Amino acid sequence: MLEPFAKPLYITQPLLPDMDEMNEMLKVIWASKQLSNNGNMVKQLEKDLSAYLNTDFLSVFSNGTVALQLACKVLRLSGEVITTPFTFAATAHSLAWNNIKPVFCDIEEDSFNMNTDRIESLITQNTTAIMPVHVFGYPCNVEKIQQIADKYGLKVLYDAAHAFGVKVNGKSIADFGDISMFSFHATKIYHTIEGGALTFKDPYQKERADSLRNFGIRNGENVMEPGTNGKLNEIQAAVGILLLKQVESEIESRKEITNLYRQLLKEVPGIITSKDIDGVDHNYSYFVIRVDKAGYGLSRDELYDKLLEYNVIARKYFYPLCSNFQCYKDFPSSQKENLPIANKISDMVLSLPLHGRMQKNDVEKICAIIKAIQKG
Ligand SMILES: *Cc1c(COP(=O)(O)O)cnc(C)c1O
Repeated sequence: MLEPFAKPLYITQPLLPDMDEMNEMLKVIWASKQLSNNGNMVKQLEKDLSAYLNTDFLSVFSNGTVALQLACKVLRLSGEVITTPFTFAATAHSLAWNNIKPVFCDIEEDSFNMNTDRIESLITQNTTAIMPVHVFGYPCNVEKIQQIADKYGLKVLYDAAHAFGVKVNGKSIADFGDISMFSFHATKIYHTIEGGALTFKDPYQKERADSLRNFGIRNGENVMEPGTNGKLNEIQAAVGILLLKQVESEIESRKEITNLYRQLLKEVPGIITSKDIDGVDHNYSYFVIRVDKAGYGLSRDELYDKLLEYNVIARKYFYPLCSNFQCYKDFPSSQKENLPIANKISDMVLSLPLHGRMQKNDVEKICAIIKAIQKG
């Protein structure tokens, strides 16, 4: 009989900067007497991130949600925007906060991303953009999405919250669409405790975003439009500068953990694991399984509850779907018959604990528990 873990195993564990290095950064900030308002740490972080993501124009924000809300303003989106229901609440909410109606598009069975064959039928004269999500860091069908956007004159705003460091055929994930948003929340693979970034193709869009994150103030006295407070502070920017040095090794470690999970779960009937895609540099930001009750014997919810008894805190990402939230469930596009795959997948998925410092024997034990639960 397997014993429960002595301490809870959470879905992830944040990267932490080296404390001595952090102290050195704090000394610099203390000496500068500047804690916020686009100081040297923020400027340095934007430079470092631009280099890492191979993009010319990048701005950081206090969180990813504010960044998304401001991206909608920068692109002057209105009316309806086509997005996915299989995502975190912030995706649809950032549209709603701009008085834009989210229109939900069904997803693909394997990638969990928006099914590009379903986008065109959702376009109306009110549609202004497509807002896809690279779910769990798996790239969307970026070429097809751009083709559709070009054909109908739509903007493309990527929620790339999960996709930091991902590359497609050697190109940075930030290369696609008009704007991409990255979240730097502590639960994400790379973080600034709270934070986020936008990448742009157009330098004037960066300029507008920089003004919008600072109340709409342009240059000292000129207030152009109603902005908000979306500034990142110097201490968090310093965390970001230090953690950027750890990202590559974090991705490498997570890759090993992911491959161990895949190997150990391969022979468990009814447990479907993710695969790597040719030409993609993955970031291994999440390890997600699908539980097929017909094969496994237990439903996703039953497995989740059983794992809790063993002190394994898995997460049902993404359940419920955004289209089933109280605030969106009455939209025509939210109806279950329009989103069959999303509703099916949302009832099957389970994210298991994953981070770069995870012990191999913990992974082995989690997999042994999943097998033992199946045998009953
Ligand atoms: C985390 C996340 C966000 C929001 O980011 P915050 O930085 O927490 O505001 C948006 N979209 C997706 C898909 C996310 O996972």
